[in-house]
Amino acid sequence: EVNKAANFIRNIIEADLESGKHQSVQTRFPPEPNGFLHVGHAKSICINFGFAQDYQGLCNLRFDDTNPAKEEDAYAKAIAADVEWLGFKWSGDIRHAADYFDQLYAYAEELIEKDLAFVDELSADQMREYRGTFEVPGKESPFRNRPIEESLDLFRRMKAGEFDDGAMALRAKIDMQSPNMNMRDPVIYRIKRQHHIRTGDKWCIYPTYDFTHCISDAIEGITHSLCTLEFEDHRPLYDWVLDNISIDCHPQQIEFSRLNLEHTVTSKRKLNQLVLEGHVDGWDDPRMPTISGMRRRGFSPASIRDFVTRTGVTKKVHTVEMSLLENSVREDLGENAPRAMAVLNPLKITLSNYPEDKVEEIAAPNHPQKEEMGKRNIYFSKTLFIDQDDFRESANKKYKRLVLGKAVRLRNAYVITCDEVIKDADGNIIELICTYDENTLGKNPEGYKPKGVIHWVSESHSKPATIRLYDRLFNVPNPGASDDFLSTINPESLQVIDNARVEMSLANAKPEDVFQFEREGYFCADRFEHSAENLVFNRTVTLRDSWAK
Ligand code: ATP
Ligand code: MG
Ligand code: MG
Repeated sequence: EVNKAANFIRNIIEADLESGKHQSVQTRFPPEPNGFLHVGHAKSICINFGFAQDYQGLCNLRFDDTNPAKEEDAYAKAIAADVEWLGFKWSGDIRHAADYFDQLYAYAEELIEKDLAFVDELSADQMREYRGTFEVPGKESPFRNRPIEESLDLFRRMKAGEFDDGAMALRAKIDMQSPNMNMRDPVIYRIKRQHHIRTGDKWCIYPTYDFTHCISDAIEGITHSLCTLEFEDHRPLYDWVLDNISIDCHPQQIEFSRLNLEHTVTSKRKLNQLVLEGHVDGWDDPRMPTISGMRRRGFSPASIRDFVTRTGVTKKVHTVEMSLLENSVREDLGENAPRAMAVLNPLKITLSNYPEDKVEEIAAPNHPQKEEMGKRNIYFSKTLFIDQDDFRESANKKYKRLVLGKAVRLRNAYVITCDEVIKDADGNIIELICTYDENTLGKNPEGYKPKGVIHWVSESHSKPATIRLYDRLFNVPNPGASDDFLSTINPESLQVIDNARVEMSLANAKPEDVFQFEREGYFCADRFEHSAENLVFNRTVTLRDSWAK
């Protein structure tokens, strides 16, 4: 169950099934193919597909492609792939609002014939002026009362291409005095000579979103049309259209609040700008809040679904902290990601008392709690690497790592003691000479106590790797509220480490495999750039919440 918790939509659906108003649930997810899906869409997907799933119903995937100027086939493909990746299956074939253009046209003629729509010749500017404002009631167009026959004739000629773009429009005849601006004789068809990816140049008039959406829902037999709150004021128009055309189905539109996430933007327009201006490396850059970006970052579908569930289904407008998303991811990876060792900033160690050519194979558990995840071999030898951050020449008691003259345990291996520090001419530490205690494999040393446990790899049995560390893309919690959201970009959102060393077993990692690099965080092999010859890992999330204020 995706939408487990009791919520107002669930209540409506259950009441409708109980009363017999509906025998089954049919929902739809209706994206406009003008960009990649983002985390907000994930919420809409989980709600629409999730409710259908919870009640053994069906959910359609319908492209709302009535705006030919902005749509691209590549977006449609990416959207469908994202929905599938999130774990949902749409019912039947993918639908397109454009598939209904003939029916929509016929319903428009029906409205004209019922004297409920008319062809208006006011210019766009005049229309705006006549519409009035919230304070000022609208004025009726002088063309509003033209004879039905005349509107019908003009509408047919609009379709036939006799008039210029914008020369006239078809408007519903509702109420210019309505306090709801959407009801002041809204435009339902406009002339627009534009090639459409599905219908080509067949049409030079296109229906508006409001006219299209409700009819598409009804054609598909949608029972509950679930959408975000900004459509609340459009509901009276949704109902008006369906009440006034001859169609049997009348879906119930129900609105819920959008998902807003701190430190990011969830507007396709702004995300598109980030891509076009090169602030990120494409729509699927791991810093992007897009579904494909989160995927490339290493988030699992289950963790995204879990996150959405935790944000709840309400009408309350709120912004969710990034830590909520990261906690869902962390929990999932903590359970499911195998452990491995990776040294981000290598510092060489030579074990003076370890034989030159000896290599020891040690079986290390892949997960400390889950034995069923098995073991992999790690290799111990005379030359090792630890992280530069894990050594100090002198340190206080709080530093539980390697210190000159002191001992530390190497994870899954022996206890070593640092005897000597080697520096280059500039005084940089370049190597440590240590001794290992051969009686400490899986045993505590006798007579002394090592200070903590650090990770390591052997020189001979490790591989070079590129590691990318990601941080928040924006420095402020609400970049979208800024006049210039680009100025709030975090210039340090990506740090590339190209001389890391990772344990041998990671040469077998497949793109998108996830790991906990012990003590460093959760990482995934890059979906596109990682290969056995060129290891590339992206940090999904740190081990602990680093966002705490
Ligand atoms: P954007 O403003 O980013 O362009 P949109 O709402 O125009 O988004 P659509 O492709 O029309 O994008 O969205 C498809 C569905 O996803 C709609 O039903 C919309 O309500 C829903 N949706 C979009 N953004 C969010 C969000 N932040 N939270 C929840 N649902 C959303
Ligand atoms: Mg939209
Ligand atoms: Mg939009």
